[in-house]
Amino acid sequence: MFVYFLIMNCLHSTYGERIGSIVITLDSHHREHIAHSNFWKSLDGNEPPPFTQILSTDIGIKWVPKDEFNLQHTLEYTKSLESKGRFTLIIWPDHCIIGSNGQAVGTKINYTRILYPNFYNLTFSSFHS
Ligand SMILES: [Zn+2]
Repeated sequence: MFVYFLIMNCLHSTYGERIGSIVITLDSHHREHIAHSNFWKSLDGNEPPPFTQILSTDIGIKWVPKDEFNLQHTLEYTKSLESKGRFTLIIWPDHCIIGSNGQAVGTKINYTRILYPNFYNLTFSSFHS
């Protein structure tokens, strides 16, 4: 906790008023998530490594969802991302798995929230491009 207190003091003394807020995203995913490796397989059965880009045009050619039931959803989801022109589907390392320590807001972060309540905003995010 002391280290986090020092970090927050350092940030505050260095950047002062320029820090408007610190956002804790509460990012949360099921292990079987469209942006995780284990959701997909190549036609020869290999999972895509983290940071692989999967375009809608890759689906059915390079990559398919392991569960065929998800095929239509993956096409709609990737096309929707691509149509907005900002994002494409990227495979991320497994993270923030629901029920794991990676999803929890750690005790030390919670402690700094008590010390600096005005800096923190909590948001929910389960969306990834
Ligand atoms: Zn995430």
